[in-house]
Amino acid sequence: MDKRVERKRIGVADRYAAMTHDLHWETSYQAMDKVFPYGRYEGIRIHDWQQWSDPFLMTTDTYWRLQGEKDKKLYAVIEAFAQNNGQLGISDARYVNAVKLVLQAFAPLKYAIHRSCAQASRQLRGDALRIAAQMQSADELRQYQSDTHAASVYNKYFNGLHETPRWFESVWYLAPFRSYADDVASAGPFEQLVAVSFGFDRLLSDLLFVPFMSGAAHNGDLSLVPVSFSAHSDAARHKAFGLSLVQFLIKQDPANLAIVQRWIDKWFWRSFRLMPAVAVMQDYMLPKRMASWKEAWEEFVEEPVNALFDELAAIGLRRPAGWAQACDSKEHLSHQAWSAFYGYADALAFHTWVPMADELAWLDRKYPQSFDRWYRPRLDFYAQREATGKRFRNPALPMQCQVCQQPLLFTEAGSPRWTAYRETTHDGEAFHACSDHCARIFADEPQKYVQAKLASHAILQAPGTGSVAEPLPASLAAAGIRLGHDTGGFATSDDAINFENWGGGQDMKEAQL
Ligand code: ZN
Repeated sequence: MDKRVERKRIGVADRYAAMTHDLHWETSYQAMDKVFPYGRYEGIRIHDWQQWSDPFLMTTDTYWRLQGEKDKKLYAVIEAFAQNNGQLGISDARYVNAVKLVLQAFAPLKYAIHRSCAQASRQLRGDALRIAAQMQSADELRQYQSDTHAASVYNKYFNGLHETPRWFESVWYLAPFRSYADDVASAGPFEQLVAVSFGFDRLLSDLLFVPFMSGAAHNGDLSLVPVSFSAHSDAARHKAFGLSLVQFLIKQDPANLAIVQRWIDKWFWRSFRLMPAVAVMQDYMLPKRMASWKEAWEEFVEEPVNALFDELAAIGLRRPAGWAQACDSKEHLSHQAWSAFYGYADALAFHTWVPMADELAWLDRKYPQSFDRWYRPRLDFYAQREATGKRFRNPALPMQCQVCQQPLLFTEAGSPRWTAYRETTHDGEAFHACSDHCARIFADEPQKYVQAKLASHAILQAPGTGSVAEPLPASLAAAGIRLGHDTGGFATSDDAINFENWGGGQDMKEAQL
């Protein structure tokens, strides 16, 4: 009888090495510097690429198998939600406005980051790092697709979801997201990865994936929530990737430390400036409430990031420059952003409202130091105006920060009475920033940010603007947003009226009785 040949099983680490580091070769017909032209562009010095391995030891074949299994389950759940008219089982039609913000702002940003990670992957010389960047690129594309698929059921019944990638390109209040995407895309490959995997994923992404999504589940959204839970295992990998990348860069050469610290300062702040959208979703758009923005910030950012930087001090890294100010603003961020959004009801493709009495009481309890003193009087004023049929509307074009492109609406750290405003001059021209941190980012790379296209300026420069009474809503109409349907206050919206007529939210109300 023939003797069977036993195949030797290969261990995980050897298998990983065989499918990453061992694939590497040096080009000979062309110089490596010509093949990877951006490899040295940022001043980062790498002496031994083999020193970096994926903390998860993920290989490409395992990656596709795991993602395929997750997708199969995910699409079954999304399908079941659609088949069972899940859109009627949510708590309240106001909740759908959070879905709109996810689709208008975060989903197209993921698509942009998919492209940037692919670009970074192409430019890195080390095979292991290149493969990890490629996987993150595929993750971001998959998340963009599944977000879009999950929201498609809402798009059939609610306004504000029909042309979100187009709006991302030009609509004023989405400019912070598009500008972030442009800034990442125009950076070098190491900065791109530090920005995305460390600045956003490692430091802030839990706020969207954990407390907000738990709240969304609590409000009956069984379509978008499974997408986020499915994406959260990718996020765990991105977080580990971001941290190990930063550690690798610093260990490779002492000269890298100052560059990486500057990127951490910049990208923490730029990522933090995307957070007002999450803060309003958390405090104002979840009709059934759980944790406040402030509580979520403390649990998912303040504590873990402090602990992380206590550890990173050993390799010379300190907390991001804007850290203290970001923590200080936890009392104010959601309220200031919501108030601004409320005033611009005619220039947003989602709806805003004054919270109901029990919701105002909840905000009071959650923010004993700030809400009653600074923000409740403003909301009470808005409610009085609405009661007399004169809803408050802000007709002015916002002044935007040259760097983060947020309107200048945030206050000085420690003094909520004063709007923060910085002015700087470059080549004889004045530029404005929302904070010392954006002003510093501008000062580091003025040639980059002077080119930023600001929505407010673009609107005023558009042909025919002079003859339009309200150029801001007109600019939305030009981008395909249907004024009075996608825009406007919630109470009189198609969404509110339709949901009521369809008997939406009944299951949840009955469950509460
Ligand atoms: Zn700014």
